[in-house]
Amino acid sequence: MRYNSIASKKSVRMFYNQAKHDLIDLLYPTYCVVCGSGGGHMVCGKCLSSIAATVEPSIFHRKGGVSDVRWIEPSFESARAAGAYMGTIKHLVLGLKNSASSCAEPLALLMVVAAGNDPAYISPDDVCFVPSTREKKRERGFNPAEILARRIAAHIGKPISGALCKARKTRDQDELSLSGRLTNLEGAFRVKGNLCPGSRVLLVDDVFTTGATVDACSRALLAGGAREVNVIVAARTPLLSK
Ligand SMILES: [Zn+2]
Repeated sequence: MRYNSIASKKSVRMFYNQAKHDLIDLLYPTYCVVCGSGGGHMVCGKCLSSIAATVEPSIFHRKGGVSDVRWIEPSFESARAAGAYMGTIKHLVLGLKNSASSCAEPLALLMVVAAGNDPAYISPDDVCFVPSTREKKRERGFNPAEILARRIAAHIGKPISGALCKARKTRDQDELSLSGRLTNLEGAFRVKGNLCPGSRVLLVDDVFTTGATVDACSRALLAGGAREVNVIVAARTPLLSK
């Protein structure tokens, strides 16, 4: 009886999530949000190319002397973003977080452009993603970082690994002040296996604010045997003062 009730709750949730996806896709129609042309893509090829041409991807590079990271001492080797959290990229990120599946592919393509020809990004040993909190995943039915990671992994022809998981419960970063963000995730992630020792990992997330989240994940990956972690995100955002 108990199992039936669990199964039925699960199927109701799956139905609800699917219905939500269908509805949101209606609200995010398949015409280009930049130029309005039809053709079934959220951003048409022409507009995607012009956005890609303006990408200035690097947030941090240990050896390249690039550092826009002010809040943390990064454990990762480098970090890149498809763009700033504004305009079309912001629209796509919000759409992705709100279940619009049509937003995932243009973001993944822009992230692959941001990866450039850097072997650390296009030839990693493993592709990992920042895990969601259980509550967020239950609420949304999916993890936006995982969706982006799966598409990027397919584009670069590399395996994806679910190597990271939450080691303990944490608060939602969006609810916290700067100092709260920096301590909330200490020791919050762990490797749950499936990571080759000495591997170079590409870590995927949707938004980079302080870098605290990807840094906590990177520390867990390095502690779990990774040799090097490089980070790619859809958007970088300045931290709003709280
Ligand atoms: Zn267009």
